[in-house]
Amino acid sequence: MTTALTCLGTSDAFGSAGRHCAGYLLDTPQGCMLLDAGPSVLSALKAQQRRPSELDAVLLSHLHGDHFGGVAFLILEFCYEAPRDRPLLVVGPPDTERRVFELYYALYAEMRGKPLPFELRFVEMTDGSATEVKDARVASFRVPHQDTAVSLGYRVHANGRSVAYSGDTAWTPDLLRHSRGADVFVCECTTFETEVPRHIRYRELAQHRHAFDCGRLLLTHLGREMRERSGEIPETLANDGLKLTLD
Ligand SMILES: [Zn+2]
Repeated sequence: MTTALTCLGTSDAFGSAGRHCAGYLLDTPQGCMLLDAGPSVLSALKAQQRRPSELDAVLLSHLHGDHFGGVAFLILEFCYEAPRDRPLLVVGPPDTERRVFELYYALYAEMRGKPLPFELRFVEMTDGSATEVKDARVASFRVPHQDTAVSLGYRVHANGRSVAYSGDTAWTPDLLRHSRGADVFVCECTTFETEVPRHIRYRELAQHRHAFDCGRLLLTHLGREMRERSGEIPETLANDGLKLTLD
């Protein structure tokens, strides 16, 4: 059994180039977790011939719609389409539990007050938190993407491999530290040269490229400009359906 990362959604918030919003499936020998869940994550999973019922956990980097909107549809799937008999763990920043239920009831108002037919567990993380998901150790670090709400990146260790994920963030040298030694670092890079607050542009990342000490650097959360200028970028750009085997 291998450890593998499959990109389900690699666009920015605007569905650029027809890609799905954020979603990455991490398979380990004993489990399966989803890093972020954009609104169309169910379609994205099924397009890769994957069953949502395989998921043990969903790790949310932050509570913006392009990263957590799909949790409501996962809940709906497990209520009706593929009834679930084991718990689903949702890991995210502070306020995740309240925001997930608020989202679900906003989209399906008649579900308010009805108990879920499966157990939804929550672990809320902040800078320097850690938890376990099956055979994986999940550590979180705060990134500069929101002023007051907490945005997280994750480092996941499993089966002797490790994956780092930036979530959405402005450039910070802390990313070098958090990705050091990772087999793959999935790093947001929203624009090529246009400055967008609280996100990374490629020009800025390229200045620090030599300082990264990780196996593979995979750029994602790609906006229109990144797709248009892809010929000028030597790094690997993520694409929906891209699968990296880490063994
Ligand atoms: Zn985003």
